Amino acid sequence: MSAHRPPPAEWQPIQSLLQAGLPQAMLAVGESGTLIGQYCDDLQQAALCFAPSAQGLSCGTCRSCRLLAEGNHPDLLVITAETGKRIAIESVRHANDFLAFTPQVSARRWLRVEPAEAMTAAAANALLKTLEEPAARAHILLLSERPSQLLATIRSRLQKLPFPALRLGQCVVWLEGQGIPPAEALLLSRQFANRPLRAWQLWESGWVTLRQTWIDTLLNLPRQGPVAALRLADNWAKDTDLLLLRELMLSLLADLLRLRNHHLDSIVHLDYLQSLEAMAQSAQATSLWETLEGWIRLPESLVQNRNVGMMLETLLLSWVGIWSGGKAHGITS
Ligand SMILES: [Zn+2]
Repeated sequence: MSAHRPPPAEWQPIQSLLQAGLPQAMLAVGESGTLIGQYCDDLQQAALCFAPSAQGLSCGTCRSCRLLAEGNHPDLLVITAETGKRIAIESVRHANDFLAFTPQVSARRWLRVEPAEAMTAAAANALLKTLEEPAARAHILLLSERPSQLLATIRSRLQKLPFPALRLGQCVVWLEGQGIPPAEALLLSRQFANRPLRAWQLWESGWVTLRQTWIDTLLNLPRQGPVAALRLADNWAKDTDLLLLRELMLSLLADLLRLRNHHLDSIVHLDYLQSLEAMAQSAQATSLWETLEGWIRLPESLVQNRNVGMMLETLLLSWVGIWSGGKAHGITS
């Protein structure tokens, strides 16, 4: 990961946490694609730093900060699991031993478990014992995307950390800091809101062009009719990231609903406003909702391993059907 900019002012809670005395057992909750990881990096770096600033930032130059930068701090242990893998009891036993020792460099020892829901039941139970009676100067931070999957006995031991959402302008600034041109940073921020990391990763993989291709195709489809929808479903079933397509579809459908209700403040796809407005006016409300529900349910349909081609056919025919009752609109060229 490339270098990050300084944290936004809204991350001031880190400063309050340091001043009030850090809890020994903490839970940080954040959806994937948010900056929760960087937030926790900043917190742990400041917590281990010899002289954090009044703003709650690490100094960057003390021995602790230097050891962290080298990835070689003896008082920090991070347990992670790759996507789909579990955290085994052996890792947690090792972590429990680590926490029992006194700190070598900093004022405290720091264990980070990420994502916490990846712990097996045995691993979670092993950690529970330490959470019940942590050694002096031992701090445990659990990161979770789905805290409901954690044992209730574990959750009740943890103090949830505040993680303020970024405002639109802050997302734009953060994305520009990663080298993204201002107009594209704004476009990405409108769609991905508080998930700038996700926006940045997509941008690197060519999202801006793909988005335009997808939207042009989708907005033209109602005018071309059901046969074109079937052909497109056949094409997209081969190599399309369906969950990414779903994100786009949900944002388009939400824009149509906003336009029907004259909620213009939060329109995502402002660059397609004219086409979307025309389509919103001629859409059949019932079909619009049915289509929305179909896309919302897509992940569970995929889990049930249904035929991807058939699923896409149904979804795209439903999309075309929103306008099949009246005069179909598309992009006006
Ligand atoms: Zn420092």
